[in-house]
Amino acid sequence: MVPQAETAIEHNLLEVRGRIASAANSAGRSPSEVLLIAVSKTFPAETVLQAAAAGQSCFGENRIQEAEGKIHALRGSQQLEWHLVGHLQSNKARRAAELFDVIHSLDNVKLAERLSQACRDTGKVLSVLVQVDLGHETTKSGVAESLLRELVHAAASLPGLRLDGLMTIPPFFDDPQQTRPYFAELRAWKDLLEKEKPGCLGRRHLSMGMTHDFEIAIQEGATMVRIGTAIFGSRSHA
Ligand SMILES: *Cc1c(COP(=O)(O)O)cnc(C)c1O
Repeated sequence: MVPQAETAIEHNLLEVRGRIASAANSAGRSPSEVLLIAVSKTFPAETVLQAAAAGQSCFGENRIQEAEGKIHALRGSQQLEWHLVGHLQSNKARRAAELFDVIHSLDNVKLAERLSQACRDTGKVLSVLVQVDLGHETTKSGVAESLLRELVHAAASLPGLRLDGLMTIPPFFDDPQQTRPYFAELRAWKDLLEKEKPGCLGRRHLSMGMTHDFEIAIQEGATMVRIGTAIFGSRSHA
């Protein structure tokens, strides 16, 4: 695919925002309940700037090293919010806690403790989401459902962290309708955990839905969608 010109990103953002609004309306929800995170992984800082110029302020990255370059390059010039959507190893917790505003990939207690310690040292309050492995695929990261409760309760009580909800990446299906049960299941977990321990999920976010399936995720209650390809075009590598 050819690189996207500035006008293409602007056009794509408008189109994606329109599709988000339609999906929300079709489910009787307000479009303002859905935060668009533009996943800019593999694209350079200049591309992020083009999207920012088109009014986009939240960006998602999946690798610390790559994100660090962009975040530092754009720091000061723009008021941007950075979301880590990719897997995070405990030994990179400190750097992640410094760089990002929201971590979507909390999946074990040790990582939660490392992030908490880093935040206590710097006085930062970091928003985190627990990533849940609903597909039971060993290749995917995320906490197993059998360990979810324990992780949520641990993360909710750690200083420096604000647990704000749940995230999932369903298995890939050609027909996006087949992802619907996974999104519904994540919402059911949110409702159950909040019923058992009110307030434990903070702002009660559900981070779910990507280019292929975000409309279905919104119909099932997504409050954050993570969209790369539909905004920036195809990536040459993942
Ligand atoms: C890359 C990525 C996305 C965006 O995927 P697209 O299909 O390009 O929209 C969303 N979430 C995560 C965790 C990702 O790694």
